[in-house]
This record gives sequence, C-alpha cells and structure tokens, in this order.
Amino acid sequence: MQNTRYDLHIHSDYSDGKSSVHEIASRANTINLETAVVADHFWPSLGSCQGGKNIIENRRRDIETARLEFPSLAILEGVEVDIQSDGSLAPVAGGLEQFDIVIGSFHWVLDSYQWVSILSKVVKKKQFHVLGHWDGFLSSYREEDGDLAAQVLAETGIAIELNERYILEHTHFIERAKEYDCIFTLGSDSHSVETIGQLDYGKKIASDFDLNVVEPSYFLNRC
Ligand SMILES: [Zn+2]
Ligand SMILES: [Zn+2]
Repeated sequence: MQNTRYDLHIHSDYSDGKSSVHEIASRANTINLETAVVADHFWPSLGSCQGGKNIIENRRRDIETARLEFPSLAILEGVEVDIQSDGSLAPVAGGLEQFDIVIGSFHWVLDSYQWVSILSKVVKKKQFHVLGHWDGFLSSYREEDGDLAAQVLAETGIAIELNERYILEHTHFIERAKEYDCIFTLGSDSHSVETIGQLDYGKKIASDFDLNVVEPSYFLNRC
C-alpha cells in the first residue's frame, strides 16, 4: 500500500483539467509513478466542454506521443462518465469499450434511497470499472441503503474509489463494503499537475479499514 505507484483519476485539458496530456505524463514520470490514468469527462457528461470522436482521437494521439517520450510510465486512456437518473451512463462518442478504465460517477445531489436504486440498476450493465467519489453527492445516508449498495458492488466486481477530493462521511458503507469483499482504488481526481499522485487520504482510509486496494492491472486483465 505504501508503495502505490499509480493514479487512476487525472483530468487533462481535454475536459476540466488545467494541464495537457504531456504535462501530466511529465509530472507522473518525475514523481516515479508506474501508471497514470488520464480520465476525462466528455460531452454530455458534466465537467466537459467538448466531446465527439475527434476530441477523443486527439487525446489518444497525445497519449501515444507521451508513451513514446516516457517509456517507463504506463499511460492509460480513461474516462469519467455521469451516472444518470434513469440508471444509465451518459453516452460517449465511439462507446465506452475504447477506454482502458471507465469511472462511473454521480455528479448531481441525490439521497441515499435514490443512490442505491440507481446504482443497483447501473452496475448490472457492467459498463464501468470504478465507482468514482462514491458519496461525493449524497445528501443523506441510510444504513440499509449502504448495505445493499455494498452488496451489488461486490457482486459485480466494481471497485469503489477512495477519492482525494471528497471527505469520507459515511464510514458504515466502507465497513459493509469490506465485509462483502469489495475492491477499492485510489484516485487523486487531479485537475492540475501539482496534485497528481497525491493519494495520502485514500491510503489512510485503506489502511485504517484494511481495504483490498487493487492495482491497475486488475482491470486490464479483465478486458
Ligand atoms: Zn467526478
Ligand atoms: Zn473527476
């Protein structure tokens, strides 16, 4: 855990991040990360100003160029898509299969019952790998909802992200997820290069609750 050398959640200037793919790769390389996932929003997910195949292909070209420049760093193509109120994921031009890692996130305020109801639907489609900042937009929390959410995430093998930008409020959910053998990931949710690889908060939670934090290879091997 102490030696985690990845960051699974970095935004570039292809969405609402400030830094280019090259700047992200350079910073990740300087701090000796082994894997950096550039995970942008694309229209119509919130936080995006643009979408469409051209944008995604341009970013792919930038990632390929950065891979050549920083050969010891694995740079993965990620995406952060909105989980919508009807239990679907926001569409992305060209489909979700083109990405190495798909993060599904709620970006709108919802209560605990809505959260688990929508989550129960969307996880069954198995279109994403990681539930981003799982309680970032929760307006309430009921233990029975947390229990069911942990159960469906365990059943579908979707990882729960420990996100550096959102303070964990509902430790009950983490405890239940641990009991159900859920898996976890760490992500800085960085929007500028200074915060890339900063995962201390997530690492502390993982350590305090003795959570099973998986490596990026866990997702790549399943694809
Ligand atoms: Zn997000
Ligand atoms: Zn994000």
